[in-house]
Amino acid sequence: RARFIAAMIDLQHLSYAYMVDKKCVQVLHDINMHVGKGEVCSVIGPSGCGKSTLLKIIAGLLHDYDGTATLDGNSICPNRQRIGFMPQDYGLLPWKTVRDNIELGRKIRHERVQEKDVVSMMQRLGIEAFSNRHPRELSGGQQQRVGLARAFLLHPDVLLMDEPFSALDAITREEMQEVFLSLWHEQHVTTVLVTHYVEEALCLGQKIVILADAPGRIADVLDNPLFSCIDQRSKPEFFRMSCYLRERIKENWSKA
Ligand code: ADP
Ligand code: MG
Repeated sequence: RARFIAAMIDLQHLSYAYMVDKKCVQVLHDINMHVGKGEVCSVIGPSGCGKSTLLKIIAGLLHDYDGTATLDGNSICPNRQRIGFMPQDYGLLPWKTVRDNIELGRKIRHERVQEKDVVSMMQRLGIEAFSNRHPRELSGGQQQRVGLARAFLLHPDVLLMDEPFSALDAITREEMQEVFLSLWHEQHVTTVLVTHYVEEALCLGQKIVILADAPGRIADVLDNPLFSCIDQRSKPEFFRMSCYLRERIKENWSKA
């Protein structure tokens, strides 16, 4: 049965450093961020500012950080919590078929997956024709769809997406953003979506977190009245807001 339990994400004074040649390189500095139950937050920042590192910490894949990171007040543990993570490289297993990859999130939790649920998810994402292929036989965009199908079939408490639509052409990207929104409106999963597209941050984030670089830190957080207003892309209000967001980004990225 579908579960619809959204968790709240809370990060306090979160800092992270990688060891490179025995030296500490600080990547994230004093990140304070809260994503409420069922909220979608988009995170936009320049390349290399630490977006993927941030998502990996929330996914429970990196542990040696300073500060606190919790889901519903509990420390993050992928075995205990239902975390849907769509990494930047899609995270598909090359030796498994599309269908097996989609079911993977459920199977590793020893859950039965209903045939009709898998088929309907593949149909929504337009990948049912490839169900027996392997990832290498798919384009980057098709692999992204498989990753998205797997994430939503899991019905996670928290969904983390690392530049989920970046490998797509502009038109397909907009179609996939609509698919994402319609799935999100059904599941209301707490989501953090990393992007470097201003329009994507605007369409897909109720809240938009702007990161600045070196070390990665929060420069600004905006409430976004245009969330989910995909049909307004061509309207003046959308254009005005995207200009405003661009200005805020330019101001902050140039300070780095
Ligand atoms: P983004 O996703 O915003 O492009 P990342 O989180 O991938 O940024 O990387 C942030 C910074 O940390 C970059 O300077 C990158 O080179 C560095 N980095 C990422 N992963 C590692 C790693 N495993 N070891 C050392 N440095 C890393
Ligand atoms: Mg990245």
